[in-house]
Amino acid sequence: MAVVFVALGSNLDNPKEHIERAIAELRADRRLHFIAASNLYSSKAVGPGHQPDYCNAVVNLSTELKPESLLDLLQAVENQHRRVRVQRWGARTLDLDLLLFEHITLHSKRLCIPHPRMHERAFVLIPLADITGVDFYIGDKSVNQLLEKCVDRGTVQRLAV
Ligand code: ADP
Ligand code: MG
Repeated sequence: MAVVFVALGSNLDNPKEHIERAIAELRADRRLHFIAASNLYSSKAVGPGHQPDYCNAVVNLSTELKPESLLDLLQAVENQHRRVRVQRWGARTLDLDLLLFEHITLHSKRLCIPHPRMHERAFVLIPLADITGVDFYIGDKSVNQLLEKCVDRGTVQRLAV
């Protein structure tokens, strides 16, 4: 059984509802064992142009699935959420990123683990720390040390339940 962490993000069509539904869907999937979910957060979108705020969360699961099969499952959940929105705009109702899969390092065409940008994203690290604590190490740095360098730290706010 592999212990994994998955980041959830949404910034369209009632983002909080998408995240809550996606967490419920992962929780209900028989191929996954649900361990814990973070609080929900809002964060400012990074990148050019105006984009609505994101809702973010992280979940901790364990699974017998191989990394690529878990990615298939996550992408199927993403697709289900994408179906309900206006495709034309190509914006995202749900993004599921596989952050960590046990202690493995993987660089394939479809999958990089640990997720290559998780180290610099407070909107990932802050919810992750709800579950692991800030002294959790990713590679050679703790979440706390990584957070000190995150420029988006000030934009991440816990949402009221
Ligand atoms: P992003 O999450 O980078 O904003 P997408 O969600 O559109 O963009 O993902 C693009 C591709 O990233 C996916 O098709 C997937 O194959 C690849 N990918 C590589 N590593 C990962 C990972 N750790 N988790 C999720 N997707 C990944
Ligand atoms: Mg993604």
